[in-house]
Amino acid sequence: MANFYRDNDDIQFLFRHTDLGVLAGLCEEDFKFSSEFDYAPGSADEAIQNYDMVLESLGQLSAGFISPRAEDVDREGNTLNEDGSVSYAKGIQESLEKLAQAEVMGFTLPYRFGGLNFPNLVYSMAIEIVSRADAALMNIFGLQGIAETINAFASEEIKQKYLHDFTAGKVTGAMVLTEPDAGSDLQSVKLRAFEDDKGNWFLHGVKRFITNGCGDVLLVLARSEPDRAGGLGLSLFVCERGPTVHIRRLEDKLGIQGSPTCEIFFDNTPCELIGERQRGLVTYVMSLMNGARIGIAAQSIGIAEAAFRVARDYAAMRYQFGVAIEKLPAVRDMLIDMKTTIEAGRALLYETSRVVDMEIGYAERLECDSRLRGNDIKKRGNDIKKRGNNSGGKEEAKQLKNESRRYKRYAAMLTPMSKYYCSEMCNKVAYDSIQVLGGSGYMRDYACERHARDARITTIYEGTSQLQIVAAVRGVCSGTAEKFITELAGQSYEPEVKGLLEKLAEGTEQLKSSVAFVKEQGTEYMDLYGRALVDIAIDLINGYLFCGQASTKVDMEVAVSTKDNSANNNETVCIKKRKAKIARRYITKNAAKITALAELIRTGDKSTFSDYDALIGPVPVE
Ligand SMILES: Cc1cc2nc3c(=O)[nH]c(=O)nc-3n(C[C@H](O)[C@H](O)[C@H](O)COP(=O)(O)OP(=O)(O)OC[C@H]3O[C@@H](n4cnc5c(N)ncnc54)[C@H](O)[C@@H]3O)c2cc1C
Repeated sequence: MANFYRDNDDIQFLFRHTDLGVLAGLCEEDFKFSSEFDYAPGSADEAIQNYDMVLESLGQLSAGFISPRAEDVDREGNTLNEDGSVSYAKGIQESLEKLAQAEVMGFTLPYRFGGLNFPNLVYSMAIEIVSRADAALMNIFGLQGIAETINAFASEEIKQKYLHDFTAGKVTGAMVLTEPDAGSDLQSVKLRAFEDDKGNWFLHGVKRFITNGCGDVLLVLARSEPDRAGGLGLSLFVCERGPTVHIRRLEDKLGIQGSPTCEIFFDNTPCELIGERQRGLVTYVMSLMNGARIGIAAQSIGIAEAAFRVARDYAAMRYQFGVAIEKLPAVRDMLIDMKTTIEAGRALLYETSRVVDMEIGYAERLECDSRLRGNDIKKRGNDIKKRGNNSGGKEEAKQLKNESRRYKRYAAMLTPMSKYYCSEMCNKVAYDSIQVLGGSGYMRDYACERHARDARITTIYEGTSQLQIVAAVRGVCSGTAEKFITELAGQSYEPEVKGLLEKLAEGTEQLKSSVAFVKEQGTEYMDLYGRALVDIAIDLINGYLFCGQASTKVDMEVAVSTKDNSANNNETVCIKKRKAKIARRYITKNAAKITALAELIRTGDKSTFSDYDALIGPVPVE
């Protein structure tokens, strides 16, 4: 039976290559939940088995049910009914029901709300698998961050009110941030939140471009402090779909047709405050968006995987000049680059998800530790401090704090890097997939034209690529990238990749000197060459991740096609050997790119500022 999890050797490999046991230990808080919930695992092995089982059934659902409906969903789109309600495309509605039945709508939520309590890494794998089947459906499946935000920041009462329904798939949500004058710049949000005499909150104003704005539970960013400009005037609210929430229009757009993009007018809509006032943007939305960015990176990998497979298949079957076109160097090269960059994106995304899991795990441990410590100190009185017999615990707490900070810094840099790299890569792969198919690729007969349309949004929503670079370059210029790369370089590798490691070390020196040069030039120059700096850092990180994969302890054979391309007569190769070839290809190609980028950065060319008008000409007059 077709299965988008089992048929993907790279996911299968990474599932085994990554130390999921450590993540399981953190999520399960040393497996304490097994005594309370009969479906909670009692050991790392059991947890990993659960992850595998859920991905297996999701892979089957994606291949057998969701994917066959994607084409019709794309053509049908959603409907705004006369009564203001929205009907999903038939395939979306059916797939959402199946996902609810499969009990996968609360991937990372705690057991007490009916969630699976899985690590983010496994959720990323799930999003990728669903997106390969239908990128538009992922936009609703992947909105689980709304429930996570409620879980992380709302009162217990609000959690109880909504989270059980989210995990049961009875409700869907929306993340309601963007307004006509507040897109990338969310600090400019104007939508008004006001309180009546009894302390009840209401929302008034317009939001646009809201994915699934017709959903049941809406998280809305609004200005609660009318006299305060900027982010600190904003709070986050939760409200329900109802008579005061008007869907004014559904956007007519390029791709992800199955995902309704709504303009909403809130007409004095009753709502509840999430967490504390004024922390809406700076704390809650930032956290929500970080999770969502990882989701879009996973969506991008899924779309790219689907687009690659169409091209791979076509190139083997299509004959021109008496040979299969995959024999032609230009086509061959395109296909290899597609495959290599998908695997690079997946390596980066999974590593980012792992780091985020470590960050969350350590933060929770730290919180738990300080709670226990507080109780302990209260119980035993202040003389504990005086006697100083708590020093061992203190040392442990300090270590926990350091680890927590370290992962937080890495996650803050890797998240925008993943979103940026995977979404840009996905667009290139989808574009090249059409190219491999030639004229046929431009026709609606093949799915790659849909993949290319669906891909286009990934570099825009949840923060454009330019905004991801602004976030990532901070990590590159503050030394976080260098630290992370140094840690990667310090790991143990097989002798086969020694030459590649030397190339990466040379690249790291180029990065260091580029960063030093940029810092001398000032902030404006850093913004100008941010993309080049981030590209170098990502290429180095991916290079090391590939070398790590080529040094894996996982013993696994993967299929490679035979000369006659017969599907049931595939040759196999050891994963380690294959990954060494991928590492060689990726690092060799990028070493030349890194040198060129570093040279460009160090030119000191500022013509973008000095010659803008001359280079670009006037605004066209109609
Ligand atoms: C299909 C779709 C679904 C969406 N879903 C949602 C949703 O569910 N919820 C929600 O709240 N929003 C949603 N959005 C909105 C989306 O997040 C915004 O469109 C996006 O953040 C960009 O904002 P903007 O369109 O206003 O572009 P602008 O902010 O006007 O940007 C225009 C250009 O300027 C560049 N730019 C802007 N600022 C900077 C900067 N500081 N440095 C460098 N370059 C910059 C951008 O990169 C871009 O190239 C959705 C949008 C679409 C199209």
